[in-house]
Amino acid sequence: MFQDLINEALETGRPYIKEGEVATYIPELGRADKNKLGISIFCRDGSRFSCGDTKDRFSIQSISKVISLAVALEVCGFDMVFENVGMEPSGDAFNSLIKLEGSNSHPYNPMINSGAIAVASFIEPKVSFEEMLKLARCFCQDDGIVLDEKVYGSEMSTVARNRAIAYLLESKGVINGNVEEALDFYVKMCSLSVTAESLAGLGLLLANDGVDPSGKRLLNSDTVRVVKTIMLTCGMYDRSGEFAVRVGIPSKSGVGGGILSCVGGRMGIGIYGPALDEKGNSIGGGYTLEYLSEHLNLHILDSADAKEA
Ligand code: GLU
Repeated sequence: MFQDLINEALETGRPYIKEGEVATYIPELGRADKNKLGISIFCRDGSRFSCGDTKDRFSIQSISKVISLAVALEVCGFDMVFENVGMEPSGDAFNSLIKLEGSNSHPYNPMINSGAIAVASFIEPKVSFEEMLKLARCFCQDDGIVLDEKVYGSEMSTVARNRAIAYLLESKGVINGNVEEALDFYVKMCSLSVTAESLAGLGLLLANDGVDPSGKRLLNSDTVRVVKTIMLTCGMYDRSGEFAVRVGIPSKSGVGGGILSCVGGRMGIGIYGPALDEKGNSIGGGYTLEYLSEHLNLHILDSADAKEA
């Protein structure tokens, strides 16, 4: 029954694939098959459901910003992070420099490139990339996560815009430590290879307040609450507002085609669909989630009565 609903959700999203395009500004991402689509759901009671291309590896891209923010909050603390990076949606593209220009301006939030490069600079002197890789495997319950060297090389060969952002941040005193090392750390985090299943694992950790399925606490409650709030307000590029209205599930997308979603206390959801809408979100994935949200009453602001009905 639940599996049937997931299959239907995916088939609702699939026709929209033709309206999307894979990202090509990082050449290696342009090699993805735009027709792929998959969804995995890991529930709190231990049950798991999947449909479609859920074992395909793809690069996590911006979804790594969720992992980095969580680690930064744990290691550097709330004040250090949010003294330097805002909590507001930017309304601009993820790689925009526009709002960084004004005097006193900081990155708008940790889910866009400027904010995430700043966050990378806070973490990098304290936690090595190798340790971040281990944490990512642990958070996602996936030991198969590795650095995709091809994506990393491809992204570094076209990194000029992110380098410009990083140096602009350095000129404003937002970068902590070495700017090139922060940039390298940021790009490596974006180049981790995951599957829809790994994202469902990460979603479940967030849905379960930072406690993994074995009962071990990996993240503090406060960290998880902050991360999920920022995902809800800023996680879907400059479609975050519309997504919050239509779907209402804290989520984060990446230009590799992934979407990470978490339904508090209930389930983690991972999507793979590399055909993107014009804002950079998986187009088939977005419609799949909208269908699921409507049919399972997953919207965060649905009333409790409606959820029980
Ligand atoms: N690595 C990508 C970039 O910096 C991440 C973009 C994304 O997924 O939003 O451009």
